[in-house]
Amino acid sequence: MDEPANTLRSLTRWHFGADWPGRRCGAKTRRGTACLKPALRGRNRCQLHGGKSTGVKGERNGNHRHGRYTKEAIANRRAANARVRGLVREAQALGMFD
Ligand SMILES: [Zn+2]
Repeated sequence: MDEPANTLRSLTRWHFGADWPGRRCGAKTRRGTACLKPALRGRNRCQLHGGKSTGVKGERNGNHRHGRYTKEAIANRRAANARVRGLVREAQALGMFD
């Protein structure tokens, strides 16, 4: 890349040659070779290899958040369990389980 700028050749040369410094698509082609296309901005894959995909939705996505362990959910569960324990204790005191 140390040829003079603004020559016809430098202005028309293929932008993504072997020495292109940007991020390449990380996919493997059906030939088993690496995909040479540039990755989409902010992504690791090109358009042909899922770069535009937003990924699987819902529980199959590794970052799925179900809310089962939020502070609120844990507190609610603890309160409910404590209430049940209290009721069981009262019922035992009344001799309901003999
Ligand atoms: Zn690709």
